[in-house]
Amino acid sequence: TAAAGYVGRFAPSPTGPLHAGSLVAALASWLDARAALGGRGGRWLVRIEDVDPPRCVPGADERILAQLARCGLLPDEQPLYQSTRGPRYQQALDGLLHAGLAYPCACTRRDIEAALQAQGLVHERHVERPYPGTCRHGLGGRTPRAWRFHTQRYQSKMPPAPIQQAQPAIYSIASSGVSWTDRRLGPQFQDVARQVGDFVLRRADGLWAYQLAVVVDDADQGVTHVVRGEDLADNTPRQILLQSALGVPTPQYLHTPLVRAADGEKLSKQHGAPPIDDSQPLQALTNAAQVLGLPSPTGITGIADALAFWVKAWPGTYNSPL
Ligand code: GLU
Repeated sequence: TAAAGYVGRFAPSPTGPLHAGSLVAALASWLDARAALGGRGGRWLVRIEDVDPPRCVPGADERILAQLARCGLLPDEQPLYQSTRGPRYQQALDGLLHAGLAYPCACTRRDIEAALQAQGLVHERHVERPYPGTCRHGLGGRTPRAWRFHTQRYQSKMPPAPIQQAQPAIYSIASSGVSWTDRRLGPQFQDVARQVGDFVLRRADGLWAYQLAVVVDDADQGVTHVVRGEDLADNTPRQILLQSALGVPTPQYLHTPLVRAADGEKLSKQHGAPPIDDSQPLQALTNAAQVLGLPSPTGITGIADALAFWVKAWPGTYNSPL
């Protein structure tokens, strides 16, 4: 209900089972919700981000939900599936098109590389370059493939610099870029127009882009607090711009520490991270709690007691909600 005052969520992509890294984000978002409102607790939702079917693994959603349940992390509502949300994403895109804040793009990857080279931006592999803006002023008769957000147009309409405030603002948008304060990482800044450019809202293969889906869903679900892994932190300024362009509220953000594999790489399904051991949920949770800087539940043998112990410890762990 709208009166809840705190709505959090865990939003896994069903590309494989939960691993030690994703459990950290799940536990942190659950604890933040349960400890919210002075311990009265807010709502905690799970959203299955199956927006990219070719990357999804059949049954991974059920597996993730079962793993969460084994760990005592139970959502307050039936999970929302992004695959059911196409009409809402289309409405959002139509609204942006209508406002002149989105446009069709006919460029192939090769077109983009050629344009970057022509602009003297040498193409480096593995370095993401901003879209060169080729289709910003029309398709020149070419066929639309993807739809992009008019980052440059939107950002440049903003006041030149963030207004100086005694307290760092939760976020502010200036023509120079987006400033925001993460509850763990502190003040952040990104010039989205220059560093990212006009990013994709709907992909050439017809699939919805993560940025649009996550912003529309967080808004429709009334999410007030986003707690997720630090690997997603640099998406936040794009999402703040979209929220602003769509006229929906911006939640507060907390990005949690990543778990690294022995070789220093972030643990990920693509990297072959093993699933958490469902037969030892207390051990899996204790490992995740340790990454979050929470104390060990010494002498506690049940997951409900361990979770209650961490809920009490949570408010001192990270900045309480701004
Ligand atoms: N589905 C995304 C992932 O699993 C998380 C999205 C989010 O929390 O904003 O990486």
